[in-house]
Amino acid sequence: MTELIKNGKRQDDRKPEEMRDLSIEAGVLKRADGSAYLEWGSNKVIAGVFGPQKCIPQHISNPYKAILKFRYNMAPFSVDDRKRPGPDRRSTEISKVSKEALESALILRHFPNTMIEIFVEVLQAAAGTRCASLTAASVALADAGVPMKDMVAACAAGKIGDEVVLDLAKEEDNAGKADVPIAIKPKSGDIVLLQMDGDLTPEEFDETLSLAKEGCMKVSEEQQKALQEKYEMEEGE
Ligand code: UDP
Repeated sequence: MTELIKNGKRQDDRKPEEMRDLSIEAGVLKRADGSAYLEWGSNKVIAGVFGPQKCIPQHISNPYKAILKFRYNMAPFSVDDRKRPGPDRRSTEISKVSKEALESALILRHFPNTMIEIFVEVLQAAAGTRCASLTAASVALADAGVPMKDMVAACAAGKIGDEVVLDLAKEEDNAGKADVPIAIKPKSGDIVLLQMDGDLTPEEFDETLSLAKEGCMKVSEEQQKALQEKYEMEEGE
């Protein structure tokens, strides 16, 4: 097997601290209140936000705030081995942690008894889809005009060979030593999601975390750019 990192270069020619190319477009779905399409390396993800709207079923509504629903779904054709359609343990877990990460950034008390639904469809997957989904969902929420204290920007870092690297690609995720996806609120720097797969020493963990935070700040810049472009286009219409 070829080495994942050799002379400071990764298989896709990236340096250890380099992120895959990321592009985000806001406002891509006509029927959603807010939406975003994102390409991150080979990942392709689309997010749609609906609401605040009438809460269904009504008995789960909250008289003090809007409830948030998040559905992460991976298309059967998004991966090499066809994925069985429908929810599974992994998608349930990703939906749960993503919802909790976003909840801390949204101002939900303005919309009692309502719900806000977020749907994320992964069209093509190549490691890092939970970060891609959260990043797209955050742009879609801002595009929908849902009041937010801050955005949520996500990025992973991890370890391949003996090196800590940013934003693991598929082969690196498969054969690497550790993967640490995180999400932060860029204004406050608060961490709203942190997961870890693999083994790291405490020193390596600190290094991985600070690299992932730097990645999140770059992601945050792209999110802002996407929203600015959308509003500049609307102004020009
Ligand atoms: N993957 C796959 N089939 C599946 C689930 C995942 O091929 O049913 C791949 C996909 O490319 C995904 C990667 O494995 O991006 C890593 O999955 P993980 O659970 O670590 O989540 P992610 O890195 O996408 O957030």
